[in-house]
Amino acid sequence: MRKRLLTFIAACFYYSGLVKLARWRIRHLGHRLIILNYHYATGGDLRSHLLYLRRHYRILHLETALEDLYMPSKNGNRVHDRRTPLVLTFDDGYQDNYTHGFALARELQIPFTIFLIPDYMESGDYFWWREGDRLVSYAQVSEATIDGRTYHLDQPVERNKLAQAILSRLCQATSVAERETFLTSVSKVLAVPSSVAPEEKSTLPLNWAEVREMDESGWVSFGAHTMHHPVLAYVADPTEVQGEVEQCRAMLEQQLGHPVRTFAYPMGQPQHIGGNAIRAVQQAGYDWALTTVYGFNTPRSDPYLLRRVEAAVNQHWLVLAAEAAGLWGFFSRLRWMVTMRKGLYKRQNRS
Ligand SMILES: [Zn+2]
Repeated sequence: MRKRLLTFIAACFYYSGLVKLARWRIRHLGHRLIILNYHYATGGDLRSHLLYLRRHYRILHLETALEDLYMPSKNGNRVHDRRTPLVLTFDDGYQDNYTHGFALARELQIPFTIFLIPDYMESGDYFWWREGDRLVSYAQVSEATIDGRTYHLDQPVERNKLAQAILSRLCQATSVAERETFLTSVSKVLAVPSSVAPEEKSTLPLNWAEVREMDESGWVSFGAHTMHHPVLAYVADPTEVQGEVEQCRAMLEQQLGHPVRTFAYPMGQPQHIGGNAIRAVQQAGYDWALTTVYGFNTPRSDPYLLRRVEAAVNQHWLVLAAEAAGLWGFFSRLRWMVTMRKGLYKRQNRS
């Protein structure tokens, strides 16, 4: 319902000419760079998104766009195209970025950047932030006690609460070792069989062969996203933070055979980043680092705190059109109102 409402409002924006006006305004604000942040390439209509973006924006490689933003003289005064520059990024390196995203990039000749997590590529493991739901869905017990609380898994509400509790605990781990120990213990308590049917392939990590093929094509570039995707602000030992950031770069460069200049902070909001991580990124020699903080970038933007606009492939392209044109403020207020209403409704139902 909410999705339909958003699409309807986005359609009003688009067909009333408001989106066009907003795009015109951005072009006349001076040098702006829009960086979109996707995760999945399937589950919606990425082709429609790309066709819209290709028509109205100048889609660039991330590194080229950042050089143009900070060192316009380096690439010469070759830009006659007055459309606002825009970059596509995909975080985490899901399998569908290759099977679907790469195929579209080649067909439509659109570059994009993927931020990789080398340890997951090596192990082929499920990403930890999906484990709460997955472990609960494969649980073979009807009752489980985790962190002193007992969950009755025959009740959907309790299953949901357990999945949330697992996710929150994983998120706040103070080291990767602690996170992995907790995951193993939960898996044991829930008696999750080790031979569970593989999750949908699209949600598993990419492998090196796929990454190299994309790299060699020239359409896809790669950035670093730490070795194991910990939430860096919660990691207690600054040496571990440094290791996550440095080793990731070293491993990617070794596998790709060329420098890796960009980094994206896991989760990417200020409360997830922390001062240690910013220092570590600078010390490791990256040129630029990306957050998930909403906004467009200007030549005055901090190169280690670049902003992005969240984009999801399951959004209608009309919603993306409004987001990319900076009409997000309206949507965020609407989201807030819907969430508040929902919260109120839930509270009323409970009491
Ligand atoms: Zn991530």
